[in-house]
Amino acid sequence: MTQTFVYFDDCFKGHVQSLDYPECSDRVQNIIELINKKEEFKNIIIKQPNKIEQSLISAAHEEKFVRETLARFPSDDQIVFLDQETPVSKGSLDATLRAAGAGIDAVDAIMSNNIHNAFCIVRPPGHHACYDRSMGFCVFNNVAIAAHYLINKYKFKNIAIIDFDVHHGNGTQDIFYNNSKVTYYSTHQYPLYPGTGDVNEIGVGNIVNVPLTSGTNSDKYQQIFDERIVKKLEEQRPDFLLISAGFDAHTKDPLASLDLVENDFKLITCKLREIANKYCGGKIISMLEGGYDIKALENSMITHLSELQK
Ligand SMILES: [Zn+2]
Repeated sequence: MTQTFVYFDDCFKGHVQSLDYPECSDRVQNIIELINKKEEFKNIIIKQPNKIEQSLISAAHEEKFVRETLARFPSDDQIVFLDQETPVSKGSLDATLRAAGAGIDAVDAIMSNNIHNAFCIVRPPGHHACYDRSMGFCVFNNVAIAAHYLINKYKFKNIAIIDFDVHHGNGTQDIFYNNSKVTYYSTHQYPLYPGTGDVNEIGVGNIVNVPLTSGTNSDKYQQIFDERIVKKLEEQRPDFLLISAGFDAHTKDPLASLDLVENDFKLITCKLREIANKYCGGKIISMLEGGYDIKALENSMITHLSELQK
């Protein structure tokens, strides 16, 4: 059986609680309790992530942007907007540093052979955060920071990031657009926020955008995922898999209109696990991105975790 760590900290509930906002603390309020209740997860170990060092954030982001952003977090009860859709509150600094820190801790745990894979259930999410700006609920790009850490510390040269969030991960694409050590794969509803993710955005041949029309259902999605993502992963033969795990392509999600269900996230995860077993020695780090219907998100995360630990 695969040894899986879940990275979570209660401080993720402290990031922007007070607003009537889709990216709210209810998203992760009950998830640890749900995991602990399930017999099938009795071998899962839940770890508290450390705060990341500033220099590791700056490996993926402009140093000036990182410094200035860290200085903008409020220490009182006011809400500061880093961009139009990215509010931060008093509890957000701790959450932001541990959300990015979860990816770093997971990399170290996998590279010291303690575990095979990890699911980082973090807030704030990361995939819209660009090289030099926060955007769309995302302060820093958690998955991009983990990829840079793999490259810089462990000398990986052929990483795959698979992003199945319903929104295009424009930030991740931006950070790796000219970096052939990372191939970025995204399925997303198009057109939709943030407006990027056209098939013609190909970077240096390392960007694989798969835009989907509104209403795309399970059968169609899985067929496209096999043809466009799995096939290309087989060609790439990556040595490490990172997942931007957003669950807002679920049919119940209020922010988008794809028609996936929990079973689709099971199938996606199963396909990615098979790729990881074949080429990466099973090494996967998955990091939570979107998902805004609370029940659908909880069920989808449970399904994802269940497949990861198989
Ligand atoms: Zn999303």
